[in-house]
Amino acid sequence: MNEKDENEKNQVIGGTLYLVSTPIGNMADISSRAVKVLSEVDFVAAEDTRHTGLLLSRLGISRPMMSYYEENKRSAGDKIISRLLSGESCALCTDAGTPAISDPGADIVRDAVKAGINVTAVPGACAAVTALSISGADTKSFVFYGFLPTENTPRGKITDEISRERRTVILYEAPHRLKRTLGELKASCGGERGAALCRELTKLNEEVIRGTLDELIQKYEDIEPRGEYVIVLHGAAPRDGALEWEGLSVKEHVEAYISSGMNQMDAIKAAARDRGVPKGEIYKKYAVRQ
Ligand code: SAM
Repeated sequence: MNEKDENEKNQVIGGTLYLVSTPIGNMADISSRAVKVLSEVDFVAAEDTRHTGLLLSRLGISRPMMSYYEENKRSAGDKIISRLLSGESCALCTDAGTPAISDPGADIVRDAVKAGINVTAVPGACAAVTALSISGADTKSFVFYGFLPTENTPRGKITDEISRERRTVILYEAPHRLKRTLGELKASCGGERGAALCRELTKLNEEVIRGTLDELIQKYEDIEPRGEYVIVLHGAAPRDGALEWEGLSVKEHVEAYISSGMNQMDAIKAAARDRGVPKGEIYKKYAVRQ
């Protein structure tokens, strides 16, 4: 970007929704563009006005504020959209990191886009990407699950899905649930699966503990987890004899096993195992496409 484009990009424009990322621990990580946008917007919508108010006052900024959080996002969202439509500019901030990433923001972005409002990002810290970058896990392809649900049934389904996931998996976790989550990941993925626990990133007590799930569990046998955590789990290795099937249709998948010498029923069973679905489901799809 040349200087002219850069200057134009830095102009705060009325009627624009700015998603402003804030630090995840280290105050020095606020960007100068974030400071400029926060100083110049007509109003700031914050997940917690006290929390963001403190950040603004540390930065010497005073702007009108309103709340925008999970429980009021419908009514507050409507108000924000109508103010944006009337030509005001708004900075949306959450307590830490990037808005809309395991935080409020996705709904208002969708509504703003629908209403033809300009939406732009002022990027900065995000715990998931920060953790991934220093985890030591494969960064070429990854999948972000955010927080696992707390209820057993959907949780079990997801940990089962994760056990077969070949890409690196990123999870957020609260300290009081860390041991349970590590135990359940071990139960589904096995204790030998590699992982990194990225704790208190960018803060004084930042720590990255890398090892197998067994080793990470052992580390917390006698101590209680404290602080904020991102779990980065290495992707699953291919099963012995399993095919590289990503990108294949069900029919191609089954036929690839058949051409490797399997009979049709065994090929259907193997494809079902790869995809983590019942063999009846593969049979139905395969039979329909015959
Ligand atoms: N929007 C945020 C972002 O961009 O990272 C995430 C918000 S989510 C409500 C909060 C979770 O992010 C925490 O429970 C923790 O899992 C992770 N997190 C946030 N800050 C962190 C930090 N400094 N170190 C490790 N994990 C962090």
